[in-house]
Order: sequence, then C-alpha cells, then structure tokens
Amino acid sequence: MPNPLAALPAVHRFLASDEMADAARRYGSAALRRAVREVLAAARSKVGQGGSVPALATLATEVRAMLERRAAVAYPEVVNATGVLIHTNLGRAPLLASQTSGYLALEVDLASGERGERLAPVNERLIRYFGTESATVVTNNAAALVLLLAAHAAGREVIVSRGELIEIGGSFRLPEIMAAGGAHLTEVGCTNRTHLEDYARSISENTGGILVVHRSNFRIDGFVETPELRDLVTLGRSRGIPVWVDEGSGCHLDLTPYGLRREPTVQEVLATGADAVLFSGDKLLGGPQAGILIGRSTAIAPLRHHPLRRAVRPDKNTLVVLAATLDAFLAERPNDVPLYRLLAIPEAAVRARAGRIARKLRLAGIEAEIRATRAVLGGGTTPDQTLPSWAISLRNGGSAADRLRRARPPVISRIEDDLALLDLRAVPPEQDSLLVRAAVAALGV
Ligand SMILES: *Cc1c(COP(=O)(O)O)cnc(C)c1O
Repeated sequence: MPNPLAALPAVHRFLASDEMADAARRYGSAALRRAVREVLAAARSKVGQGGSVPALATLATEVRAMLERRAAVAYPEVVNATGVLIHTNLGRAPLLASQTSGYLALEVDLASGERGERLAPVNERLIRYFGTESATVVTNNAAALVLLLAAHAAGREVIVSRGELIEIGGSFRLPEIMAAGGAHLTEVGCTNRTHLEDYARSISENTGGILVVHRSNFRIDGFVETPELRDLVTLGRSRGIPVWVDEGSGCHLDLTPYGLRREPTVQEVLATGADAVLFSGDKLLGGPQAGILIGRSTAIAPLRHHPLRRAVRPDKNTLVVLAATLDAFLAERPNDVPLYRLLAIPEAAVRARAGRIARKLRLAGIEAEIRATRAVLGGGTTPDQTLPSWAISLRNGGSAADRLRRARPPVISRIEDDLALLDLRAVPPEQDSLLVRAAVAALGV
C-alpha cells in the first residue's frame, strides 16, 4: 500500500505552485514559507491519523487564510456603541486628532537652538491649567504612584486606610503597587471607618508619607467615616509627613453642565494643601494614556532625578496629544476634546440620531427600535453616575452583537434583556453613516 503522506506536496513544490504565486509578494516570503510549513505539518498529522489527503487547492486556501489572519490590522478602529465613554478595553478616551508621524521640536529650544527639555512644554501647561507649583507626566497613573513612592518612601512606611486598598482591573492592586515602589504599607482603620486618630497613632519616625486613594470603582454606604482631607493635611503638616492623593480619574472641571453630579476637582483637592495629587491622563482629562502628578515642588522635583524617571518617560505621541488637550482646556474650549464633545451632545439630538439610524436599518429589513438608556463614564470613574442617552435595540442580542463585532468597522454593542443595544452616547455623529453601513452589512437580509 502506498504511503498516503507521499501524496502531500513538498514545501518547495508547494511554494513554487501557481496558487502561491503572488502570496510571497503580498505577505513576504519568510511569512509564506512559515505558513506553508505549518499547514503541511497539520495536514500530515491529520493524514497520519487516517484522514484523507487534501487537494493542493484546499491547502492553498488554508495558507491564504492563515496569512490574511496574521496580516490583519493589529488594533482596528471600532464604533463604540457600548454607552461607556471611557472604556478601558476600547482604549479609554477618544483623542484629539494630532499629527505626530513626522519630526518635531521635541527636545530643542527653537529660539536659542539649545537642547530643550522634552517635558517642559507639557509641565508648563499643567502648571498653568491646574494652578499648581509643580507638575510632571509619566506613562500612566500606576507609574506615577510607583515613582512617587520610590522617590519619597523607599524602605519607609506609607499609611493607607483599609477602606482604600483598592484593586482596579486586576493588574493594579494597591498593596502590590506600593511594594513595587519599595514602600511598606501601614494599614489603618477599618474597611468602612477610618478616623483621623487612626492615622495620628500610626505615625512613627519611619513614616514616609500618608497616601489617600480615591475609591474610583466602588462605593461604601451606610456606617462609614473618612477624615476630611483638610484635617489629614493638617496632621501631616504638624508631624512633618507629606500627604499624597491618588485621584485616579482626575475630574478637573464642573461636570454639572454635562448632567453629571459635581465631584471634587483635582484643583480643589490640591487646594486642601496636599503635597501631591496624581491621576490618569486618559480618564476624565480625556487625553492620552498618561500619569499626571501635580503639587508642591518638594514633592515633584525629586522625581526628576530618580533612576525610574527615565523608565516611565512618556513618548512623543503622548506629549503632543496631552499638550493639545490641555490647550483646549486652557482656551476654555473643553468641548473641542472628543470626550467632552460626546458628553455635551443634548439628549434630544442623541434621540433624533437613534430614530434616523433605526429607520435606515428597518428599510434594510432589520427589526430595530429605539429606547432611552443611561450611559456611564466608565474607566473606574464615578461608577454610580449615569447620563441620559438613546440606543437602537436589536433582537436576538447575542447573535446580533457577535455579527456586529465582526463587521467592518467592528461595532461594539451592549447586551440588555436579550437585546443588542447600540447606545449612541459614545458614538461621534460623524460615525452614524458608518454605523448604519456596518450594521446593514452584518445584519441585513
Ligand atoms: C485608574 C486608577 C489608577 C490606575 O491608573 P492607570 O493610568 O490606568 O495606571 C490608579 N489609581 C486610581 C485611584 C485609579 O482610579
């Protein structure tokens, strides 16, 4: 009996076949060779287990499919119809468009021709916008905390309330972050109640600082107590201990015009006299991923010369977008920043758009209704606050959501009551026609 494996083509013959003629040019000859080897190996193993020998055309189709999958866009842009404005899995805040692909004056002072400091322009904007003595930027808020602790409290104790030992999205767990910064955690108080006295009693000669952490993604209600930040600052001052605040989301303007509740702004937190306030650039600031530290020079200046500083230095793309975002706030045009533009769209306008989109979907034979929804800020910010919004609802939610996710562009919906909801709060109006096209292609009959 002939060996069935011998019926499979050799790698070099397969590569030279007509079927593979243009694949090398499109995907690169090394990638093609690798795919051919993998497909042949899989075929050999199947044939070895008694399967039939596939035709050359079938193998070629498999190779092409593999190459196409591997050449797909790594991070495709999507339509965010989830109703979550700061969606961590979708890249948090939508960004101001910027052009950073060419050369730029990153570290050169154009007036003098001297070498410039890359962070100076953005630090200077942060100082002006937040009215702070000193400011700096690192890659994200977690890095900001690690750097702050490493520079001020390595090998020393840092006091944190037990009610604030948070975990945010798995990889950020406060006790672990503190250990990474070399600080020893001194827990005080209880989950629901921590008193000023608890802090006062825990201060020793080895205390490096007091850290206050915004609870961000959860709330404690009922029998609760937390000392006023102002009183903690007074305590710290009287004992010569710095007080730092990890604000996380970094609310920086009055959100009531957007229909949200007033939250303390980082400017107000700073005004209590805290030594440093840190927050994410990509949460409520609506900027790129970044960690922003503002506060007293005594808190910020020592970070500059710490060896970790270089390891957490933001890249040029971050700095360009962050500076542009701050420029919009400085010019009192917050709604130029995409996140605030989305927040500012009146509910009636969202409703009208939902109506128009649903009509177009129905014309394509898709059962689509509209319904009032509540959108959320997300990103661990103001977890209990919602915004009025409207969505297009589609039946057989699970399967509709699957098909929409595989559309071009992918549309990410949210499931509620077995319906797929296309919530428009986080969809910029200029994406409406794109959304219709993608949904008709994915769901149309
Ligand atoms: C989100 C958050 C962080 C982590 O910020 P990243 O920029 O994602 O590193 C840290 N602390 C608080 C309180 C947060 O809300």
